[in-house]
Amino acid sequence: KKEDTSTEKSEDNLRSPICCIMGHVDTGKTKLLDCIRGTNVQEGEAGGITQQIGATYFPAENIRERTKELKADAKLKVPGLLVIDTPGHESFTNLRSRGSSLCDIAILVVDIMHGLEPQTIESLNLLRMRNTEFIVALNKVDRLYGWKTSRNAPIMKTMKQQSKDVQNEFSMRLTQIITQFKEQGLNTELYYKNREMGETYSIVPTSAISGEGVPDLLLLLVQWSQKTMVEKLTYSNEVQCTVLEVKVVEGHGTTIDVVLVNGVLHEGDQIVVCGMQGPIVTSIRALLTPHPMKELRVKGTYLHHKQIKAAQGIKITAQGLEHAIAGTGLYVVGPQDDLDDIMEAAMEDMKSVMNRIDKS
Ligand code: GDP
Repeated sequence: KKEDTSTEKSEDNLRSPICCIMGHVDTGKTKLLDCIRGTNVQEGEAGGITQQIGATYFPAENIRERTKELKADAKLKVPGLLVIDTPGHESFTNLRSRGSSLCDIAILVVDIMHGLEPQTIESLNLLRMRNTEFIVALNKVDRLYGWKTSRNAPIMKTMKQQSKDVQNEFSMRLTQIITQFKEQGLNTELYYKNREMGETYSIVPTSAISGEGVPDLLLLLVQWSQKTMVEKLTYSNEVQCTVLEVKVVEGHGTTIDVVLVNGVLHEGDQIVVCGMQGPIVTSIRALLTPHPMKELRVKGTYLHHKQIKAAQGIKITAQGLEHAIAGTGLYVVGPQDDLDDIMEAAMEDMKSVMNRIDKS
């Protein structure tokens, strides 16, 4: 029997937003992810951050702690933020279902020394096509000549400490980049000057090396998501889940790494995924996540869960997953559901995957 949570006040019933990192090669996508992940890691104490399958989970507590210098008195309504671990086009395009992106918000990384580059524009077009919100991280500010480092500081505070020359060079580069965005038909503005969020995209200057601006970026990601996506982020009974990778794991056979975007998965649930030779109907043997606090993922050791609530990155073991296709949806067969309908829906996803392969 499905419990009815739809009557709960939606703001108290939000799931974590899912965030992807996009941008041109070498702009610092990986480094920025490391920086977001690593700031609080002290001697194995990860400040509640958990490394998941294909994603990193930041509980609200961690975000509050790291953004307290911003004095925003962050009212966080979401339980946390789930950041996808593989930056770039591929995980973004794989994280979709029926044409819409499952990534709620993206960080578009731009190198302040290089401005917009070909893959920045590709990313932009993907984001626009999928109607996905994004925030620009104007990265590598520490490369401005004469930059004074102030580790993990909010950007306004650190900017005030820079010399006039650094501030001038920053303004000049920022203006150029805003013009480049304009040429792509987009209004952008430094986030703390942005009075028209929604129409004008926000730019957060960052350094993935010394962490300046990273608190600002985290806070803005969460605040913007919870402010504008209440409906999308409202926790639902209906499972929304996407297969990111199909992998053989010793001792587990073929497994699928999924992002559970909404709903709950249980051990034993009957599921349908899209397969190379038709729909795969099977049942969840195990729901696995890495052990928390383990910095290095030790091969083959996972935590087993009876059930997992969205949003999370999970490894699923089940029989018959050999021909499962990454980038397609995972469907749960409920007691009221018609298996044929679900099998059909699962195979619909094949078309869009094929479309993508044709285009690339
Ligand atoms: P990706 O290809 O976008 O994932 O870029 P990486 O994260 O691999 O970074 C590319 C290079 O830029 C590496 O040598 C990084 O150390 C360097 N890098 C990334 N972010 C910054 C930054 O904020 N400041 C400086 N100075 N270097 C950076």
